Amino acid sequence: MKIYADNAATTKMRKCAIDAMLPYYDGIYANPSSLHTPGQIAAEAVRAARERMAAAIGCLPREIYFTSGGSESDNWAIASAAEAGARKNKKHIISCAIEHHAVLHTLNKLEKRGYEITLLPVSENGIVRAEDVEASIRTDTALVTIMFANNEIGTIQPIAEIGKICRDKGVTFHTDAVQAVGHIGINVKEQNIDMLSLSAHKFGGPKGIGALYIRSGLPVTNLIDGGAQERGKRAGTENVPAIVGMAAALDECLKDMNKDAAKLIKLRDRLIDGLLKIPHTALNGDRSSRLPGNVNVCFEGIEGESLLLLLDAKGVYASSGSACTSGSLDPSHVLLAIGRPHSVAHGSLRLTLSADATEKEIDYIINAVTDVVAYLRNMSPVWHDLLEGKAQYVIQ
Ligand SMILES: *Cc1c(COP(=O)(O)O)cnc(C)c1O
Repeated sequence: MKIYADNAATTKMRKCAIDAMLPYYDGIYANPSSLHTPGQIAAEAVRAARERMAAAIGCLPREIYFTSGGSESDNWAIASAAEAGARKNKKHIISCAIEHHAVLHTLNKLEKRGYEITLLPVSENGIVRAEDVEASIRTDTALVTIMFANNEIGTIQPIAEIGKICRDKGVTFHTDAVQAVGHIGINVKEQNIDMLSLSAHKFGGPKGIGALYIRSGLPVTNLIDGGAQERGKRAGTENVPAIVGMAAALDECLKDMNKDAAKLIKLRDRLIDGLLKIPHTALNGDRSSRLPGNVNVCFEGIEGESLLLLLDAKGVYASSGSACTSGSLDPSHVLLAIGRPHSVAHGSLRLTLSADATEKEIDYIINAVTDVVAYLRNMSPVWHDLLEGKAQYVIQ
């Protein structure tokens, strides 16, 4: 069996997205800025896609800016708010400890340029407290940026509550909704969101395309200077096929959302229950305020990398909570922020499901992980020390 359980990293493209894109590579390849008929047909496709993207999150078409994806949208949103803030002498930004690196690294850069960053802690289930946001807002706060749902542990944040607080206090509110869009309900007007980042490849669209919603009336920094695309704020010929594919994928996600979420929650909970039967194993993140397809557990006495490699050999494609593979030995900042010690954070496993997963596949994953964990523990000196009482279990 081969099971791709890494849908938080990227998703398989939906067939409707591929089908929608193909004509724009083949016949309708003209530049949407051209005034001739084929150019205007391409421009109409971009216009229609913008309208559908806007409808999907509850904003106006002119509030949607196409970008190359989630990272670019995060960078742009934060840069825009920071620049607008600086003009009013507001150089304080509030965010949280479990944000994606596209947010955290952008904030680090601003900190070096004289901005003050407040990184809020999260509860042990990975949730930001709205009252902490409220208490941190100052007269010089330029921006609050809190992710909608976490990419590692799947926790869904109290976005509407935070949005209301920010709106009442007149502070700009951005959310990185890359993991949420297409998977859970979003309405930027109802949730008082000023800026929102999304990325197509996390919901069955193509890679390298995304969008930033910016509420009309907010100042927008020029990201790329050049032509008049994206209202002159982000120049460059539009990626027409990708834009069309993104809109098609999101339309289908919204149509299937309730059905898919109900199915995924059942599969997710079956997987969590099965994995928690392994002794000295704990769930990372919140049990209920959680993305429908996200499972993240940590195992005492296990190295995440070995676990991944052995699961790979069994056809289970997952992800771990440490970044050793990317050349660093640091465990995930998210797992550290929810209070996992280094040793345990290294022994974590993320399995993110797609709606076409089956119960049979879930049971296969449970068996594969149970076997691999037992095998690795059996060879681990750390585990034997625990068994013999020479060391203390961190996970009971
Ligand atoms: C994937 C992801 C991003 C980055 O999106 P790209 O389109 O790959 O640049 C940003 N934030 C979160 C929460 C993500 O999951």
